[in-house]
Amino acid sequence: MGLSDRIGRIKPSPTLAVSAKSKAMKAQGIDVVSFGAGEPDFDTPQHIKEAAIQAIKDGFTKYTPASGIDELKESVCAKFSRDNGLNFDKSQVVISCGGKHAFYNLAQVLLNPGDEAIIPAPYWVSYPDMVRLAGGTPVIVKTEENNGFKLTPDTLDTVLTDKTKIVVINSPSNPTGAAYTKKELTDLGNVILKYPNAWVISDEIYEKIVYDGYTFVSIANCGEEIRKRTLIIHGVSKTYAMTGWRIGFTVGDAAIIKAVSMLQSQSTSNPTSIAQKAAVAALNGPQDAVSKMVSAFHERRNYTISRLNRMKGVTCLNPQGAFYAFANLNSFLGKGYKDTRLNSGYDLATYLLEEVNVAVIPGDAFGQKGYLRLSFATSMEEIKKGLDRIEEALGKLSS
Ligand code: GLU
Repeated sequence: MGLSDRIGRIKPSPTLAVSAKSKAMKAQGIDVVSFGAGEPDFDTPQHIKEAAIQAIKDGFTKYTPASGIDELKESVCAKFSRDNGLNFDKSQVVISCGGKHAFYNLAQVLLNPGDEAIIPAPYWVSYPDMVRLAGGTPVIVKTEENNGFKLTPDTLDTVLTDKTKIVVINSPSNPTGAAYTKKELTDLGNVILKYPNAWVISDEIYEKIVYDGYTFVSIANCGEEIRKRTLIIHGVSKTYAMTGWRIGFTVGDAAIIKAVSMLQSQSTSNPTSIAQKAAVAALNGPQDAVSKMVSAFHERRNYTISRLNRMKGVTCLNPQGAFYAFANLNSFLGKGYKDTRLNSGYDLATYLLEEVNVAVIPGDAFGQKGYLRLSFATSMEEIKKGLDRIEEALGKLSS
């Protein structure tokens, strides 16, 4: 068809594909329970919507600087100073079209052919493909369930080389919910600092969605040297139920931020003007809606994890953050129903969607066989119904 080699290196996003499939089934009148894409089911808080409406009324509907408006950059600086004790200047901030775009841009401006990006697995589905698209080489590093799916300094040391350009840290993690302590991040940082070419991309999009009194800490809080090597990506999507508004941001080294801004000036231009005004209201306004959403997620997490662990053959770690259950269903691999044998997470997910109309994401998409990711960012009623159906479907499988 004459498509570029570059586009041939990637595949469609599995999270978005499952979400599209379950929406299409719902449109046909099928009663699908979706544990698919990670998207808060709550509405965007009213004061944030009002700010966008006001922006439209005020005619704030034209191009803005490609890197975002000063008012939002200042709000981002204020957020990092207030919440994280990290002081950045506006020249160290760029506003992008969502957290995914923030990572994409960094891969584009940092990677040359042959450069390696270390990605701990299970990983968010889009990191490896965005690295490949930029011409880099993803180096997938397995983490262990019995270590809470966290990367250890020893393992990291075995994969870092002079070719390493990026080390991805995603805490709290999508899909496992693993959240690192300051000591763990400091130890990882000390290993990374031995390699002068390596930058840390710290994806902190789930910072505010944490449980059981876990206090969020960034690797950028683990000393001045590692702070200088860290690029934080973040956004308003998950914290403020603003997935569709597409506002993310990157903070860190001014020269890299300048390169990202230049890339945006030749690709997307500015993120949507009215969404930027909404993001200012989100970051500077009342935060009570956030704590309400987090306590609802907490209740749903407790229910989901305890139900999963009570199902015969299923185990699931308790996530410390984000809104995903990453359930181990390895005991079902090789089992079957009627004429079908289930040999992978993809087979299990297909079986659940077809047999009981429950949408989940196969662990394989996150680099982990035999697991399923369930997003519990949906109502308790749906969660109960979906888990009942999963239990029923798993009960039908035999060796
Ligand atoms: N990050 C979310 C997820 O993992 C949203 C979908 C996406 O962009 O992948 O489901």
